[in-house]
Amino acid sequence: MIPKRPFGPTGVQVPVVGQGTWQLRDRRAALDALKAGLDLGMTHVDTAELYTGSEQVVGEAIQGRRDEVFLVSKVLPRHASFEGTMKACEQSLQRLGTDRLDVYLLHWNDGSHPIGETMRAMGELIDSGKVRWAGVSNFDVDELEEAKGALGAHRLACNQVLYHLEQRGIESAVLPWCRRNKVAVVGYSPFGSTNGFPSPASKGGRALAEIAKRLGKTPRQVALAFLSRDPDVFVIPKAEKVEHVQENAGGGFALPKDAIDALDHAFPMRPGLGFL
Ligand code: NAP
Repeated sequence: MIPKRPFGPTGVQVPVVGQGTWQLRDRRAALDALKAGLDLGMTHVDTAELYTGSEQVVGEAIQGRRDEVFLVSKVLPRHASFEGTMKACEQSLQRLGTDRLDVYLLHWNDGSHPIGETMRAMGELIDSGKVRWAGVSNFDVDELEEAKGALGAHRLACNQVLYHLEQRGIESAVLPWCRRNKVAVVGYSPFGSTNGFPSPASKGGRALAEIAKRLGKTPRQVALAFLSRDPDVFVIPKAEKVEHVQENAGGGFALPKDAIDALDHAFPMRPGLGFL
């Protein structure tokens, strides 16, 4: 079973490795993969109103086992007025076939609506029991401060952000802020999306392969373990093939320090990379 850790301020034990659901290609394959992931303990399931068809597939996958799942969805910035957020949440709940989300995120901030207004809607959704915790995604430190302040007594559960071996930008400011404020960090695109995983011929790819061989793991498992080495971080790889899900389930282990140091060297932090 995949190790679990407390998710930010929620007190809920959430698996270190969860499941993403963006860009699903085949409904049947995605359904089988999601269910296989749940069976393996990958019960943190991430979706969004933006991901066409994804909420319906997730709804099918979790049918009859809602209580096992830590369910996350997101409102689009253009819908994130007070009324728009309430309506978008209702529609997500319908597509997911459930009466509650564990965390509801503002997908990103594009200035369409004040962050405070969206957070006010989040508070209302929490008070009505439709959402357990509020979260955000793609937020920098200033936006995090604003969201946290606007939520008042309601706690900010997480910031979901881009995080993979070639994009470690969050480590400079966002991750330290989240750590200080007890906000979970959820790393998305941990494999760099579809074609972003380091090639075996590259310097980084060779380092991954060497560590993987030594530890009896695969390079992707080592990558997931590296990204989740900080106790505040969770990862949500997307996989539509059952064998990929099975492999990813083995990525939540503790890497020895020498392996962390070697990867740190092979994939150096390059400040300024990414959008944060
Ligand atoms: P990702 O998880 O980095 O990579 C997904 C790709 O890796 C897919 O092509 C998948 O193939 C492949 N893959 C997965 N496991 C594999 C394995 N063990 N071996 C070989 N290939 C493997 O990319 P992502 O979908 O961009 O990110 C993950 C999730 O984060 C998304 O699905 C979404 O839920 C979330 N996300 C959030 C935001 C945001 O703005 N908040 C942005 C992007 C993503 P198969 O599908 O064929 O298995």
